[in-house]
Amino acid sequence: MAKIYYNKDADLKVLKGKRIAVVGYGIQGRAQSLNLRDSGVDIVLGLNLKDETWRRAEADKMKIMSIADAVKSSDIVMMLIPDEVQKDVYDKHVAPNLRKGMVLDFAHGFNIHFKRIVPPKDMDVIMVAPKGPGALVRETFLAGIGVPALIAVHQDHSGKAKQCALAIAKGLMATSRGVIETTFEEETETDLFGEQVDLCGGASELIKKSFGVLVDAGYQPEIAYFEVLHELKLIIDLVQKGGIEGMWDGVSNTAEYGGRTRGPIIIDAHVEEKMKKTLKDIQSGKFAKEWVAERDAGMPTLNRLRKEGAKSRIEVVGKNIRKMFD
Ligand code: NAD
Ligand code: MG
Repeated sequence: MAKIYYNKDADLKVLKGKRIAVVGYGIQGRAQSLNLRDSGVDIVLGLNLKDETWRRAEADKMKIMSIADAVKSSDIVMMLIPDEVQKDVYDKHVAPNLRKGMVLDFAHGFNIHFKRIVPPKDMDVIMVAPKGPGALVRETFLAGIGVPALIAVHQDHSGKAKQCALAIAKGLMATSRGVIETTFEEETETDLFGEQVDLCGGASELIKKSFGVLVDAGYQPEIAYFEVLHELKLIIDLVQKGGIEGMWDGVSNTAEYGGRTRGPIIIDAHVEEKMKKTLKDIQSGKFAKEWVAERDAGMPTLNRLRKEGAKSRIEVVGKNIRKMFD
């Protein structure tokens, strides 16, 4: 069982007299900056783009500098820009301004784990990854409850890297809920696996294919949409609350019998084999290499898939159905 860290295990004094440069003021950057500032931490933003996040930061009365200047003036650097731009920004604006003894913090392990970013040996490299989207990180802070987080240490030059990660987690209010230690490898690989196999990739294909089967069999698309897409959330809410067995308690006996007997026929050993293959491609770095090449080529595949997705039958029906819930 993983050890869980709480408020008593973390000390905000670790951050006293230190300045944190938060690079990026997007989904995570804004939430984490505001939480840490409200926790009394000295925060400066490193922003290079005059986009809407910059204007948001001004409105929030944040101290704003260029990324280079923010890094120069700080002790801890939090990389909270999109994963796919981190390497370029790191190489150009962060790396040349790092000093011995600094701390580099990430919210996801991709760039460190796949060695796209290789920081100097004389600094700490940590991860603090709130287990929730930015909006929730902020809302739960304001409500005084926080969200759980993962921490990891990739490099411990100071011997105090973990205390620093825990202190940041406390400033975010994650230690009120519980913080679990992981590694960059585990966080990155399980995160990619989850989003590909289960959460985003698997779930969306399960929805699309079951929708297609019903519609091809002559059922009304609107009815199919309700059944295979809309209701999924209600079931997942039950799963999140009470686990799989709790969900079975919350549905009819007919649904339970049908589901328990048919589920394993649909998601069978073939599918499991493909899950294992997908995991291998993640572990070997094959997926990461493919994704980086895709991004470097201007995302031709992703753009094509987005276009196709927008035109698909389920989207056309969905637009109308979703209006019923506005
Ligand atoms: P985001 O897309 O919201 O980041 C936007 C910010 O990055 C803006 O301030 C923008 O100006 C800046 N930016 C974008 N491109 C830039 C460039 N080329 N040069 C300089 N600045 C640039 O990012 P996010 O979703 O908050 O993700 C940040 C990190 O947090 C990632 O590592 C991600 O994996 C991780 N994470 C995100 C979430 C989430 O809720 N989105 C949850 C957990 C972990
Ligand atoms: Mg994830």
